Amino acid sequence: MIALADCNNFYVSCERVFKPWLNEKPVIVLSNNDGCAIARSNEAKRLGIKMGAPYYQVKELCQKNRVSVFSSNYELYGDMSKRVVSILMRFTSEAEIYSIDESFLRLDQIHDQIKIAQKMRKMVLKWTGIPISIGIGPTKTLAKMANRMAKKQDTGCLVIRESEKSLIGSVKVRGVWGIGKMIEEKLKRIGIFTALDLINAPAPIIRKVGGAQLERTQKELQGLQCISIEQIPEPKKNVCCSRSFGRTVTDLEELEEAVANHAVRATQKIRKEGSLTYGLQVFIMTNRFSKDPQYSNLKTIGFDEPSDDPIRILSTAKELLRSIYRKGYSYKKAGVLLLNLRTRDQDQGLLFRDHHDEKRKRFVKALESIKNTYGTSSTFLAAQGIDRPWDMKRHRRSPRYTTNWNEIPAIGNGLDPS
Ligand SMILES: [Mg+2]
Repeated sequence: MIALADCNNFYVSCERVFKPWLNEKPVIVLSNNDGCAIARSNEAKRLGIKMGAPYYQVKELCQKNRVSVFSSNYELYGDMSKRVVSILMRFTSEAEIYSIDESFLRLDQIHDQIKIAQKMRKMVLKWTGIPISIGIGPTKTLAKMANRMAKKQDTGCLVIRESEKSLIGSVKVRGVWGIGKMIEEKLKRIGIFTALDLINAPAPIIRKVGGAQLERTQKELQGLQCISIEQIPEPKKNVCCSRSFGRTVTDLEELEEAVANHAVRATQKIRKEGSLTYGLQVFIMTNRFSKDPQYSNLKTIGFDEPSDDPIRILSTAKELLRSIYRKGYSYKKAGVLLLNLRTRDQDQGLLFRDHHDEKRKRFVKALESIKNTYGTSSTFLAAQGIDRPWDMKRHRRSPRYTTNWNEIPAIGNGLDPS
């Protein structure tokens, strides 16, 4: 059996761990640049705040109902996620970290699965403060469905066994993992409305409607495992780091700082995966919704020798940026893409490779180990800038309680300090 452990309203729950007075109060968390609501407490959902609602549209509603509003604090959420996963790992030999708040776990026990799930929930809640729901099924698709149902139950756990067709009968096809709006429409046209309809439909028809992927979903619903647990994520082919600025940027210098930061972050990502990049792309763009003159451009370069050297990638990115930068425009976004990634063991090597860069490699490794010990902001390259006035808006970000010494929580009386 496979379990899907999913943190409830994860970002909101992370905020509440350190602000217990927000329990049972409406809370939302906003996306980058404080744009849209991307996490909502149940109380906020009840007020009618929709997933992805632009903040300016619900601002009044929030003020009227005293909704607590936070900017996203990915450093905190990432660290809390790591803690949750480390506890879940105690219960399984095989796990797939599916997203920041969801993990698939293989359950080796044949009996008492609900008991195990309850134990997981209790331990995660006690050790991290994060409430989770657990759905269990013979396939990933059924575990996912069980999880949706578990959320609505007080116990927070639910098992769907193969034989329990009655349980999934009433679920609309849209509620099935992997079925989007388009497939839903197509299925409706041939009289398939529920998960049970889908289970009972002839496979050739299903293949005609949604290809092999939909057929796989059908088999999964029937209890046949078709989607395996991916313990090691596929190495990525490309990595992109980009962000909208907190305000418009016109200076080349500020753009350079932003591009330098994206280049360093992108390089960090590929180094973590043990990959090398064969190509680099830099892009810049103005705000297409504004009435100002528009300009966007990108430039790509291939490396003859693949690299994971942040300094080389950064300086090349800056060269590319300079060649596409035009004065007189208000830029809204810049980004860096690393292309054609290969794992290090796929690297062919160059006959006349420059072997003088050993010193640089050691330097980069030293920087990395300092960052690992003292946090990502402890060291950085001067090109990344210090004040970063262009950086995204996060006016409502809570402290990074668990990853920054200057922001660790102070012990109070647990009451709302405001
Ligand atoms: Mg969740």
